[in-house]
Formats: sequence, structure tokens, C-alpha cells
Amino acid sequence: MNSVRDQTTKMKNKDVSDHVEYKDVNQLSYHQLLLYYNATFSYLPWGALILDGKGHFVNTNSAYLQMFAITKHEAEIYLNSPAKYFRFYDLDSRELPFNEWPIRKIMNKNHFHEERYIIELTVRSKPLYVSCTGLPQVDEQGNYVSGLLLFNDISGKVPVQFEHENEILKRNSYLHELDFIEQRIKGAEDLLRAIIDTIPVMVTIYDSNVNYIILNKAVEKITGWTQDDVQKTSIMELAFPDVEGRKKVLQFMISLEPGFRDFVMLTKDGRKIETSWANVKVSDGRHVGVGIDISGRKKMEQQLMEAKNKAEKENLVQYAFIQNISHEVRTPMNSILGFAELLKKTIRGEQEQQFLDAISISGRQLLRLINDIIDFSRLDKKEMSLTMELISLTEMMKQLKGMIPGLKNTYSKRQLKTNVNIPAVKAKEIFLNTDIYRLQQVFINLISNALKYSDKGKVDIGYKIIRESDKILFYVKDTGIGIKPEDHERVFERFNRLHNNSKKQIRGTGLGLAICKHLVTLLGGDIWFESKPGEGSVFYFTHPMADQPRSGKFSKVNDTDQEHHKIPDLSGYTILVAEDDVFSYKMIYYILNETKAKILHAEDGAKALRILKSRKVHFCFLDLRLPEMSGFQVLNWIRTSNLSMPVVALTANALPEDKEKTLRAGFDYHATKPIAQNELYNLLNRFINRNKFLNDR
Ligand code: ADP
Repeated sequence: MNSVRDQTTKMKNKDVSDHVEYKDVNQLSYHQLLLYYNATFSYLPWGALILDGKGHFVNTNSAYLQMFAITKHEAEIYLNSPAKYFRFYDLDSRELPFNEWPIRKIMNKNHFHEERYIIELTVRSKPLYVSCTGLPQVDEQGNYVSGLLLFNDISGKVPVQFEHENEILKRNSYLHELDFIEQRIKGAEDLLRAIIDTIPVMVTIYDSNVNYIILNKAVEKITGWTQDDVQKTSIMELAFPDVEGRKKVLQFMISLEPGFRDFVMLTKDGRKIETSWANVKVSDGRHVGVGIDISGRKKMEQQLMEAKNKAEKENLVQYAFIQNISHEVRTPMNSILGFAELLKKTIRGEQEQQFLDAISISGRQLLRLINDIIDFSRLDKKEMSLTMELISLTEMMKQLKGMIPGLKNTYSKRQLKTNVNIPAVKAKEIFLNTDIYRLQQVFINLISNALKYSDKGKVDIGYKIIRESDKILFYVKDTGIGIKPEDHERVFERFNRLHNNSKKQIRGTGLGLAICKHLVTLLGGDIWFESKPGEGSVFYFTHPMADQPRSGKFSKVNDTDQEHHKIPDLSGYTILVAEDDVFSYKMIYYILNETKAKILHAEDGAKALRILKSRKVHFCFLDLRLPEMSGFQVLNWIRTSNLSMPVVALTANALPEDKEKTLRAGFDYHATKPIAQNELYNLLNRFINRNKFLNDR
């Protein structure tokens, strides 16, 4: 077979425009064949390239030129220096050495069919993705003489044109990832949207000018305003019609102020609702407002407030009632106990003495009950106030010891031994900053219980110092009936009487320990107990220790020194008793009469004033609730008239704050009815000792 170049040269020398007839191909003349070949070569859809024996350019067709977007002349230049202008890659983007190029392959007489390459023509920007077929021609000796290369542009068959396949793959996987991320974002967005739209909390999203407001479904449900309304109207103006109010809302919406603010909103159907809003700025610069409808809560708060006010009013009325009852009971009790005491001195018969004891004991029990009821009525109001003073622990314990015989009498438990454990006074005395009345009340309650709930054995009272906590641990220990473990939890609860079913009736209200717990807590301590049924109980309570007082700066607890109980000689002195209750007056009269003083009686405040103006008076007892003029008003007159006699308030108002009130008003002493004979003499003796009214007899 002749070389293509030979055939072409021959063809050039002949007239190729001859008419072509249809015949068997073997019958065709060389000329005709050449004609067919030329036409086929030109119109071939593949890029065709004919190379000579040295691999040089011979011819190329228009598909080839189009494929590389070059002219025939350029093709000739590029193909005659292929290593300079072309790069060949395999599908893995590996650059192929020259001897693996299709040109080399056919020169090495390799036939190959549709091998895929990526060809880069360096003068062009994008590489071509081609399939290439190589047809070498050899002479009779088998030497390569020429070759035909057919290129099929298959770039359009891969997803991204003109990209290396591995890059495409890379890009594909990247796109896949992007797709995945997009799906995830979309999923998260859908989830968020679903949450935002289903939560019963109002959510709004807006920019920093409070434009482009987005509302969730809850806003629509609660206020009636919809996203449609946002588009069509000025939603802020409609929801917050008051100009000033709206300004505040708008300020808050972009303020980044932490926490919730309450705003009244107008709903689409014209109702006013209470809402509470918070807002946060998110990273894209927008704000998210979160709001709740608090109308229900506000209404409930209002109802609660009204109920509370009502209850408080009722409480006040109740409290005033209880106080009044207390006063009204104390005044006759004053007489009952006072006269019983006086009678004991005049009537000597044993049986009569027992009757009088019964009157005193029952009277004192009644008084304690009244005190408990008053205290109880104040527990809920958290109104129990304390009058604190610095007290010596040893003195306080001594005074407690003095009270025990009276308590044993009250509960008819003379058979029980009692022991108050007061360690010998140490060099360094211990002090309490306390309300002595309340502290004693706790002790009296615990000791009374110890006596009440014990029939034999003894009651031990004492204390230990706990240095680590700077507290004093007081205890009251009995050998009584004890408390069952299952009842322990209820001991300090009000109205809980745990021994109600026992054969022996033990009097009580179930209030004492509840009051004790309250008082101990108020005083800064704790209270608890240990108990075994049939063996006895120990009640403990703690009280903080005070710092050492600067010398003399502490109160002495009421003096129990027998010396002070003796009847003072007040002959030559005049004492005024302003008291409207006849029995109370008579009782104090009998006690004072023993002192040989002259006693004047005023049934009301006005008369007291008249006496004070006309007579020399050395000592005054003023009831506080006097008709015409109260005891306070009389005192006021005395103080402004520069009369310096001691004035004692004699009153049935027995609460610590009553005492504080009278002392603050300028009374020299607050004596609670019923005042005991000893207390009265004691009081007079103290004033005498202080030279308060001895000078001008
Ligand atoms: P009460 O007025 O009934 O004594 P308290 O509040 O003082 O009320 O005590 C509550 C209950 O605790 C008492 O009813 C009694 O059952 C029980 N209790 C209190 N102290 C003692 C004690 N020392 N020994 C046995 N039981 C006691």
C-alpha cells in the first residue's frame, strides 16, 4: 500500500471534479476512491489527523480544528513541535511522558481504539477530554510510514466541561458534601421553624430598625396579629397604640437589656393583654424577641394580693380582738391573784390555804394560756419582735432557779426533784445578747413540759458552752413518759398533743413547743430533743454568746434578792394610784397600805391631773387605759410640768413591745397586771435605794 502522502500528491496532479457513479467499491477507480476519501476525511465528525513517517503534520480535518479552536496553519505549527504545545494526561490527571502519547504510540506501530486522554493545548485555557483511536500504516518491511489519529471530543459527556476527571470527582464529592450540609441546614431550619411555630411562646425576629418583622404562630394565637398584617400595616402602631408606650417598647426591642420587661399589648380584636418580653441579638445582626402572655398570672397575682389584703385585715381584726380579750382577762385576774395572795396572809386554816393555792395556780395557768394564745396569733404574722439586752448567763440561770418552785406548785409536782446546774462563776463571765422575757418563756415552757409529763424522778436544767460555734447549749432533761419515735416529727407542730389518749389527762394546748421553736429561731439558735418512751426526754436549744460588755453596760435581770421583798417604810410619802378598775385599785391599795404611805385614788386621767396639780405626790402608779385621759397623756403632763417623781405604768398590756413603748414614752417602770406583792415592794425598794424619792418627805 502506498503512503497517504503519495496518494495525496497524485491526487493533486489530477482533476478531482469528475462525475462519480455508484459501482461496487472494487470497481471504483483510484481517482474516484480519492474523491470519496477526501469527502469522508473532510466531513468526518471526529477530529482526524494524518502524520507522516516522522510524525510530522500532513493533514487535519475541520472537526479537529474546531475541537481545538485553531486554524489549519496553527495546527501545523503546534503539531510540528508537539512537546512544546501539548500536554497529555491520563484520567487520573497523571501527566504522560512523551512516549506514551498517541503520536508516539502509532509511530511505534501500536493500533489502539478509543483510548481516553486529557489533552491540554498550552495556548488554550481549558483542557480537552477526548477518546482517541490510532491507526499506524507500515510498508512491506513492516516499517511505520504514516499514521491516522482520530479524536472524539467527549467533554460534553462528563458532568463539568473541561475539568480533569479527578478534579471533577473531587468537586463532585465536595458538591455532595455541600448538598449534605445544605440538607442538614435545611433540616435544622425546618426543625427550628417547627419548634418556633409550635412553642406556646411568642417569637419575633426583626432587624435593628425593627423592620422586616417575622412572627411565629404563637404571636398569631395570642394577639391575633398575623404575618400578613405585618406586610400590610404598621404592626407596632397597632399593637402599641400609645405613642410614649410604643417608644419604650421600641427602645427595649433593640436595647439588649437583659431580662424580661412587661408591656401591655393591644390584640387584633381590641383586648389589652399583659405580656412579658426579652430580646437577644443574633450573629447576623437581627434581634429575636421572646414573649409570654402573663395576663393570667397578673390576674392571679391581683386576686392573691386582694386575698392577702383581706386576710391581713381579718388578721388585724382578730389580733386586736385577742389583745383586747387578753387585756380584759388580765384585769380581773389581777384582782383574783392579788386578793388570793393577800388572803393567804390573813387566813391561816389549812384547807382555806389549799383553796387559795388552787385559785393562784389556776389563775397563773389561765394567764399562761392567754400569753400563748397571743403569741400564737402573732406567729403567722411574723410580728414577734425582740427587745434585746446584754444579760449575764449566771444571773439569768439564778433567776430561773427562783422560778422553779412556783412552776412545781402550778403543776402540783412537788414530789419531783429539780436541779439547776449552774457551774461556779468563772473568772470570765459569759453574756447573752437576748430578749430575757422570751428566753425565759422558752425555759418556762420546757420546764413546765418536763414537770407535766413526768411523775417520778427528776428534772435537770443546765447548759454547756460550745466554744467552736460561740453558742450556749441549754438543756432540760426529765425522767418522764417520753415521746414515741413515730411522734417525733410532730412535736414542734402547732396543736399537736401527743399524749391525748393517755389515761391521765394532762392539760395543754399543743402550742408551747411551736412557740418555743419560733422564739429560739428568732434568738439565733436551734431547738431539738431526744426521747425514749418510758425513760424520759431531753430538750436542747442553743443561743449565741455575746461579746464581753464594756464594764457596767449590761442589764441586771430582775432582782430576786429577798432583801428587796421586805415592806418599805414610806410613812410621810404620798402615792397616787390612777386606776379605773375598782378591784385592781383595792388590791394595790391593800399592798401599798402596808408601807404606811398616804394613798390617793384617781378613777380617771382627768382626776389624776387635778390631784397632781393640787397635791404633793411622791410616787405615781398610772393605768394606761384610763377614761378621760390615757396614762400616756397624764405622764406627758407630768414630764412637761417638770415633776420628777417616779411614774410606774401599771397595765394589763403584757407584751415586750408594750414594755418598750411605755419605757420609750418616759415611764420609769413597766409593771404588768397582776403585779405580785413582792414585785411591788421590790420595785419601791429599788427606787428608795436609788434615792429617787426620799429627799423631800
Ligand atoms: P402542750 O401544751 O400539749 O404541752 P407543747 O407544744 O408544749 O404542748 O408540746 C406538744 C406535745 O409534745 C405535748 O402535747 C406532749 O405530748 C409532747 N411533749 C412535750 N414535752 C414533752 C416531754 N418533756 N415529755 C413528753 N412529752 C412531751
